[in-house]
Amino acid sequence: MKVMKFGGTSVGSPERMKNVASLVTRSGEQTFVVLSAMSGTTNTLIEIADYLYKKNPEGANEVINTLEEKYMQHVDELYATDEYKTKTRQFLVSEFEYLRSFTKDLFTSFEEKCIVAQGEIMSTNMVVNYLQEQGVHAVLLSALDFMRTDKNAEPDPPYIKEKLSAIMADNEGYQIYITQGFICRNAYGEVDNLLRGGSDYTASLIGAALNAEEIVIWTDIDGMHNNDPRIVDKTDAVQQLNFEEAAELAYFGAKILHPTCIQPAKYAGIPVRLKNTMEPDAYGTIIDNVIVRGKIKAVAAKDNIVAIKIKSSRMLLATGFLRKVFEIFESYQTPIDMIATSEVGLSISIDNATHLDEIVDELKKYGTVTVDTDMCIICVVGDLDWSNVGFETLALDAMKDIPVRMISYGGSNYNISFLVREADKKRALQSLSNLLFETTCANGN
Ligand code: ASP
Ligand code: MG
Repeated sequence: MKVMKFGGTSVGSPERMKNVASLVTRSGEQTFVVLSAMSGTTNTLIEIADYLYKKNPEGANEVINTLEEKYMQHVDELYATDEYKTKTRQFLVSEFEYLRSFTKDLFTSFEEKCIVAQGEIMSTNMVVNYLQEQGVHAVLLSALDFMRTDKNAEPDPPYIKEKLSAIMADNEGYQIYITQGFICRNAYGEVDNLLRGGSDYTASLIGAALNAEEIVIWTDIDGMHNNDPRIVDKTDAVQQLNFEEAAELAYFGAKILHPTCIQPAKYAGIPVRLKNTMEPDAYGTIIDNVIVRGKIKAVAAKDNIVAIKIKSSRMLLATGFLRKVFEIFESYQTPIDMIATSEVGLSISIDNATHLDEIVDELKKYGTVTVDTDMCIICVVGDLDWSNVGFETLALDAMKDIPVRMISYGGSNYNISFLVREADKKRALQSLSNLLFETTCANGN
């Protein structure tokens, strides 16, 4: 069985929902479908919750009314028969009644999560009703019955597998199974979610639980590109990435895939394919365990980076020094992205500058501290195992006219990172594209 996930824009209008229905049924094979909320809905639900936190029920009601009108219009466009129009309208009326019920009581994050969950609950109900109206043998499974996080708010794969297997056994023989992305219950059984953009994660967890043949993430572009198409000319979809390369890229910039999403698929060894709903026959990008020896696949950039240098002739690199420095970052819950060391100094990059002042104050105990802001990490991703020779020269050559603040290689076999000024980002990305991908681009890769 394949698992297919569609994001908010892919279910963003009745037209797009019909397109989803045709994409999930066209192979005729059994398919498990994970849907996001219609685009904009999650944000609107959060806006409603914000009004309620601020004890402004009138504000909340106004937003609820506008959203309801929009959904009711969708019903007329989506369904052909009165039977399904009435059925879906009744369902949506009860949904909006439910949302209004929160405008009366005490409001906490528990209630907020119940509100935010309704986006996916509405989109999946609408699509399953549409499929059934079209005569497709489709069933809606509630993610709240099997998606669960543990006490650390991490997904609980053994629980998910056990529950979902039992539910699938009770619902044998359907062509299409549909469920909500993003939403789940926590370890105490309360409604919760996998954080913004979490539907990819849901799809990956379900793929692993069902031991699916493939997980297909449908979006609006034709896969992961070898560079940022908004910044650089002539980028191309990368046909294949291994899981590590995809994780590096997802983390370092390519917004197409949620970085955590890849993990469950990776551990279960299930390929993840990225496809474009607008061009369903295009190849897209496949992410799997295959390593293409020595090939540089893509570059990506991450903005808003701050570099911090600590220089000290005495203490540096003495036993325990790094630990003390890292503890300072840890105590301010500030993750470190890149590090570079020398005998007399240490540079660290962070992307969260909330506690920069406090961190710098504490670091001053250990030496002279300098800070560079408005920096950007450029990362080159591919099979960069150290036994392959030559790729460092290529990457460095591309950076020959660009001031480089830090370089990091050797942390994984899959990436070299350069820290440059944000102002030089475009030049750096373009130069890397020209040098690394020009020939493959010309061939359409
Ligand atoms: N609807 C949720 C969000 O907007 C989850 C998702 O779409 O992945 O973040
Ligand atoms: Mg998304």
